[in-house]
Amino acid sequence: MSKTDEQKTQGVVYLVGSGPGDPGLLTLKAAEKIASADVIVYDYLAGHNFVERAKPDAELLYVGKSGKRHTVEQFDINQLLVSKAREGKNVVRLKGGDPYVFGRGGEEAEELAEAGITFEVIPGITSAIAAPAYAGIPVTHRDHASSVTFVTGHEDPNKEESAIDWSVLARTAGTLVFLMGVKNIGKISSELISNGMAARTPAALVRWGTTPSQVCVASDLANIASECRQRGLSAPAVLIVGSVVSLRDRLSWYESKPLFGKRIVVTRSKEQSRKMADKIGDNGGEAILFPTIEITAPSDYGPLDRTIARITDFDWVLFTSENGVDHFFKHFFDLGKDVRQLAGPKFGAIGPVTAKAIRSRGIKVDMLAKEFVAEGILEFFESENLRGQRFLIPRAEKARDILPEGLIRKGAIVEVVPVYRTVRPSGPNIDAIKKSLEDKSIDAVTFTSSSTVTHFMEMFSGARIKDLLDGVLLASIGPVTSDTLVRNGYRASVEAEEYTVDGLIRALVDHYRSGKNTA
Ligand code: SAH
Repeated sequence: MSKTDEQKTQGVVYLVGSGPGDPGLLTLKAAEKIASADVIVYDYLAGHNFVERAKPDAELLYVGKSGKRHTVEQFDINQLLVSKAREGKNVVRLKGGDPYVFGRGGEEAEELAEAGITFEVIPGITSAIAAPAYAGIPVTHRDHASSVTFVTGHEDPNKEESAIDWSVLARTAGTLVFLMGVKNIGKISSELISNGMAARTPAALVRWGTTPSQVCVASDLANIASECRQRGLSAPAVLIVGSVVSLRDRLSWYESKPLFGKRIVVTRSKEQSRKMADKIGDNGGEAILFPTIEITAPSDYGPLDRTIARITDFDWVLFTSENGVDHFFKHFFDLGKDVRQLAGPKFGAIGPVTAKAIRSRGIKVDMLAKEFVAEGILEFFESENLRGQRFLIPRAEKARDILPEGLIRKGAIVEVVPVYRTVRPSGPNIDAIKKSLEDKSIDAVTFTSSSTVTHFMEMFSGARIKDLLDGVLLASIGPVTSDTLVRNGYRASVEAEEYTVDGLIRALVDHYRSGKNTA
């Protein structure tokens, strides 16, 4: 094979920064590269939930540290990147923060250049600016600091002389940010003081910045080391030295969010979890995705096909969930039809999210239930004469019968047609969640439908589920879901007032705001 042929088949290596921890700080370009990578080689600090963005068949290789030692030596990492690219794979080399800020990204790039491998760098938000920002510390400020210096707090121990000129650092009027400096924090502060920096210079250590585990200890140069020792703080953390630290008292914003520090399990389907997870994140909490349901096609489309063929016979089409709307219309359009063929029946929705889904198809909603449960729809029709009226209810294969039975009692002719089916997902990571429950590192589990409850209980059958859930807050989207919890021997400590995901998040926020920290 000629050299040019060889180059044509080579993959590209992307040196990608994953940001400091908050998944929202991953850049769009980084997300795009992760989503299309054949191989992802990642570190300890790049571990936040990129896995769900990867292709299902992507090869995920962990090369981070475990304990004190490097799991994979740098030399081997370089070789790995080169050999995967030579196999024609597109490789993402994912690093925490920014790949070129103390991440050895420069060394890896040199190696790739040497080997003739094409590479690109996708910068990330470095912890050196993000951790201070989330702790309420701007690294520069016109009244405080006109420069900022990033310094390694962990020099190569084999170095004979320090490459850091402490006398220069001590004299800077700007902000200093030390990375990898937790172990050496005593040495760092004493070097700065002995080289002339004022002992009362404000200093802060931010551990696990931008994540729900963020901890910030603010003090001054003379005391920061002992205070961090007392609190038992370990890596990863950045040390910020300079008068900007004093702004934290006024500018701290992240740690005061209502769900800050809370780890909250989301049990709804993977597709529907994202939005809920973002809302938890917006309130400072960490969402742990544990889908207990998967939405799939009904066992048989026959009934739906036949119903759609005579859709104009109906007076009303009632939807009881967003899933119902999505699956009904997907199939309807797949059949080559369009909304003109829906002229005739009125449309009704159980709640605002369902109504929005209907409207997004260009259809007006003629009825919205006041209470977002089946009973709410019945209430709407209470004073109406339904004798001979034809109702269609496209919904899940298994569902409560309250709505059709209630309508029939009022003389309506009701057809229920399955448009989707709720199943238990195959191969969820039960062990990881079980371990977190055992460690008591989970604050709350949310249930957004009865099937999330029953599937959750089924998935843990055999485990000591009572012990696992002891002290964990169980939060329910509404009374029907709460009832299912009761039937399983549990009680929802938080129930949404408005039976929507927004309502559920609001209820959680109110719960924690009111100072109730436990279940
Ligand atoms: N390339 C990374 C830094 C890698 S060196 C970046 O740009 O952020 C590893 C050091 O980064 C850690 O020892 C710690 O000092 C810092 N660090 C990484 N993530 C952090 C976080 N979430 N909070 C605080 N410090 C962090």
